[in-house]
Amino acid sequence: MEKLAQIYEGKAKKVYATDDDTLCIVDYKDDATAFNGEKKGTIVGKGVINNQMTNRLMAKMEAAGIPTHFVKELSERETLVKKVTIVPLEVIIRNISAGSFAKRYGVNEGIVFSAPTFEFSYKNDDLGDPLLNDEHALALGITNEAEIAQIRKYAYAVNDVLKAFWSSCGVTLVDFKLEFGKTTDGTIVLADEISPDTCRLWDTATGEKLDKDRFRRDMGGVEDAYSEIMRRLVEHDA
Ligand code: ADP
Ligand code: UDP
Repeated sequence: MEKLAQIYEGKAKKVYATDDDTLCIVDYKDDATAFNGEKKGTIVGKGVINNQMTNRLMAKMEAAGIPTHFVKELSERETLVKKVTIVPLEVIIRNISAGSFAKRYGVNEGIVFSAPTFEFSYKNDDLGDPLLNDEHALALGITNEAEIAQIRKYAYAVNDVLKAFWSSCGVTLVDFKLEFGKTTDGTIVLADEISPDTCRLWDTATGEKLDKDRFRRDMGGVEDAYSEIMRRLVEHDA
């Protein structure tokens, strides 16, 4: 497999073409951003952790019957994935109130929902990722009803697997963001990453935040939190 030209550089990852038209390589950086890129910084070692954590979690999804873009881990920071056309939706599942949900509806963080919520926003940095409902997504021609149904089903299934896994590590899964893509043959698969950048993870015993909120809110201990969450995963799988 040959790594060819960079095709995209995002806020947290770079994407490279390969000599196989159906595959690309993602390269995880230590760069961190928040508030739609307004806050910038570095989380030393994050790229390695997010790459390895994403791959281990993607494998758990595959085992549960959820198709993903994962092909092969190439190095500490690089992974070979199926090249997909990303459906421009940020799919968010919440089990507990936090972040923009708490702000939007004027409620405290930490309210445990009786059932998880599903929402998506339009993946468009220029517009600040505005919230959408199904009809808006259809009206904008972003996707179709069958795809929305499939994405919703997969997102809830990811929640079931992820919530149970983190729970067995003493970690509470508060909320997370997923991205889905279409492979060259039109199949919808889970893409992008599953990491402390994209999930809220609270230590079940102490309530301590073990995710990117430590960076967003200048809480300190950011690197330690990423290392701790990775340590729990590795220890669990050992
Ligand atoms: P952003 O674009 O939000 O700054 P990243 O820095 O994480 O995000 O960049 C990675 C980009 O690669 C994202 O736009 C993501 O949608 C895209 N991506 C993730 N998985 C794949 C894939 N399998 N094929 C093509 N693009 C992907
Ligand atoms: N999230 C993400 N990327 C985004 C927006 C949100 O990964 O562009 C994740 C975030 O880490 C959290 C969940 O999605 O786990 C819900 O985020 P929320 O809508 O509360 O927004 P935020 O508080 O990040 O503005």
